Amino acid sequence: MARVAVLPGDGVGKEVTREAARVLRAVRPELELVEWPHGAHRFLESGETITDAELGELSSSYDAILLGALGDPRVPGNEHARQILLGMRFKLDLFINFRPVRLLHERLCPLKGKTVEDLDFVIFRENTEGVYVGMGGTFKQGTPDEVAVQEDMNTRKGVERIIRAAFDYARAHGHSRVTLSDKANAMEFAGGLWRRVFAEVAREYPEIEREALYVDMLAMDLVRRPERYQVIVTGNLFGDILSDLGAALVGGLGLTASGNIHPGRVSLFEPVHGSAPDIAGQDTANPLAAILTAALMLRHLGDDDSAARIEAAVQAAVLAGETTSDLGGTLGTVAAGEAVLRRLG
Ligand code: ATP
Repeated sequence: MARVAVLPGDGVGKEVTREAARVLRAVRPELELVEWPHGAHRFLESGETITDAELGELSSSYDAILLGALGDPRVPGNEHARQILLGMRFKLDLFINFRPVRLLHERLCPLKGKTVEDLDFVIFRENTEGVYVGMGGTFKQGTPDEVAVQEDMNTRKGVERIIRAAFDYARAHGHSRVTLSDKANAMEFAGGLWRRVFAEVAREYPEIEREALYVDMLAMDLVRRPERYQVIVTGNLFGDILSDLGAALVGGLGLTASGNIHPGRVSLFEPVHGSAPDIAGQDTANPLAAILTAALMLRHLGDDDSAARIEAAVQAAVLAGETTSDLGGTLGTVAAGEAVLRRLG
């Protein structure tokens, strides 16, 4: 039996996670869902974000973490959100940011003439290195001579493990090509490391074709002919940008799920959208991203059947137009969750 820490968090996170939990209980009644109170409310009351002991507990006593969203206008700079999210991402070493890009209905795609078969790829974004480590600094700040340096940190170990994860995934899912994306023409040191490791690792997967594309080329091509792509592997910064491009190709924030994964360890699943304070508490947020996130989590826990059931129910609800207004429907958050629940069979 699996044990899941559920962190609804802040804003619409609470509303959409409630719907995701209802769906999880319907398909897997024996799943143990333990609610954690982390978020702005707790931070404002006690100053606590997430402790090392709690991170230890997540890692030793849970199989997965399901997060709603973190962010609250009452916390300047969303310091609590950064500490909780980055705490989990870095201290639990969740080095894979996994973003599936799959079209559920043609009308959700802004590209002309593309069908659901044309948009179905995944992005493996390196999640613990790159420009996100915060190495760098400023010199003569606030003067006309100010200098800012922001380092792009890439380790052999970090590059190798994300590339290997992408190839493992491709092999396990019968994909024939893995695409590396970088900017090796302008960033030759980082690009050189990525390309050498990519070629080395690819030799262990002779049945899979490897290609390397500059990120500007890939951004263009994903709009022109997304059907070519199956598995994309890239660094932290380019992964951030490409995954948002991917999200926009299949219907936007209301539908986009993500996983922060370390194979074999506790991993974190969250919808891509944030706490959306502008619509929080109004029963208008789309719960489908959170529900698809729950499906992604089940798939990671080895339950492909339940994940497929949830995804089919979401697709059927979208097809019937029983959605919130961001996808053209008229339902509220709770009713949109119920539209999925009814279709679980
Ligand atoms: P945060 O500070 O937590 O990142 P944000 O408002 O800056 O919050 P998002 O929450 O990602 O960023 O939302 C951007 C906009 O997209 C919101 O203003 C909201 O109107 C819309 N949005 C986000 N999530 C949803 C959702 N689940 N359903 C409908 N609209 C959404």
